[in-house]
Amino acid sequence: MTARILDGKALAARRRTALAQQVAALPFRPGLRVVRVGDDPASGVYVRNKDRAAREAGLDSETIHLPEATTEAELLAVVHRLNEDPAVDGILVQLPLPPQIRQDAVLDAVDPAKDVDGFHPVNGGALLAGRPGLVPCTPRGVMLLLEEAGVSPRGARAVVLGRSTIVGRPMSLLLLNADATVTTAHSRTRDLAAECRRAEILVCAVGRAELVRGDWVAPGAIVIDVGINRGADGRLVGDVAFAEASAHAGAITPVPGGVGPMTIACLLENTVQAALARRAG
Ligand code: NAD
Repeated sequence: MTARILDGKALAARRRTALAQQVAALPFRPGLRVVRVGDDPASGVYVRNKDRAAREAGLDSETIHLPEATTEAELLAVVHRLNEDPAVDGILVQLPLPPQIRQDAVLDAVDPAKDVDGFHPVNGGALLAGRPGLVPCTPRGVMLLLEEAGVSPRGARAVVLGRSTIVGRPMSLLLLNADATVTTAHSRTRDLAAECRRAEILVCAVGRAELVRGDWVAPGAIVIDVGINRGADGRLVGDVAFAEASAHAGAITPVPGGVGPMTIACLLENTVQAALARRAG
């Protein structure tokens, strides 16, 4: 079997075009502010990509770049100012933060109504309760990729590798809310390969280059590779050994060009969702 490729780049482009049309028809411009602290080069690339995509969609987007030595109090003051600013609909604090700043203190300070990353415990709680809220961008993008591929999670055995609050946990909850039977596997799981082999839908969000081998993938499984890693030769690779897994899977996302572009598209969609929800009162 040779797997169907799930083209996240193309789907993200279509959704961004549709969103730009929606934004152009609004009587206001949704505002996004991305806060970056310090000079982590990877963060720089992510922030520039988000800002460019937001502008292309017609959003009022601005990046606030603070020095590496910024204190927690200084960053919190910026977040509070953005919370109060009526022109701002979405606030994203780019992670990781320098060590002198407690990540949780900052994420907790973002107004949940403007929390377009979906990392605030209020939004996490809404997801847990199966209620509407702002959902983390990467898992939301995965659900859209599944929908586009015509894959229904209902009743399916889904295995999520990874339990981070950014990807793995919300991913498991979204699949559960969509009626999948979900297993969350992680670094303490005893037999990862055996868990993976049971999956009809396998979502990998670990951060280990090509950890998931071809014989971990059940025939016909849908494989979603969230991982972004540098391979031994410097190439970008996912958590899944793509060529091997493609020989078993029914469908698979590539890295790059799979989940990554969907994350950005969902950030823009979350910003418009937040803007509309705030104005609806
Ligand atoms: P993280 O380090 O916060 O979490 C990794 C998770 O994997 C943990 O829950 C850990 O228990 C589990 N894990 C670690 N080693 C393991 C092992 N050997 N076996 C089984 N489980 C193991 O990472 P994260 O933020 O969730 O990101 C995961 C990956 O996804 C990274 O490669 C990251 O770059 C990528 N990522 C991609 C996007 C995107 O848009 N495509 C967005 C966010 C993260």
